[in-house]
Amino acid sequence: MDCLFCKIIKKELPAEIVYEDETILAFKDIHPKAPFHILIVPKKHIDSIKSNGAERVVGGLVSVAKEIAQKRKIEGYKLVFNVGKEGGQVVNHLHLHLLVGKPVEMP
Ligand code: 5GP
Ligand code: ZN
Repeated sequence: MDCLFCKIIKKELPAEIVYEDETILAFKDIHPKAPFHILIVPKKHIDSIKSNGAERVVGGLVSVAKEIAQKRKIEGYKLVFNVGKEGGQVVNHLHLHLLVGKPVEMP
């Protein structure tokens, strides 16, 4: 399947990875809309929040966002899902945006 984020997950395309486990990958957004902008994605391809069962993986994505924030002492942040073309979703692989209004020190 010709999916950009699946290629990043398979390491066929480069990305600045900030978190990885068996089921989830988090990496820096290539065109950040905030001083710190991370995309958190399930490794299994799911199109969007609209897909059947998507709600079952969302908790895991939010957990990773919380862990990234806690580890880097980020006090406040935005979590965003764009849902469908009309909702601003451009990449059709489910992803959670983690946006922070100020720069974050990377270990
Ligand atoms: P969407 O609009 O679908 O919710 O968000 C897709 C995000 O993926 C955008 O913020 C965009 O900047 C980011 N993006 C698009 N192509 C790439 C890429 O090749 N690498 C990375 N790291 N991010 C990308
Ligand atoms: Zn995919």
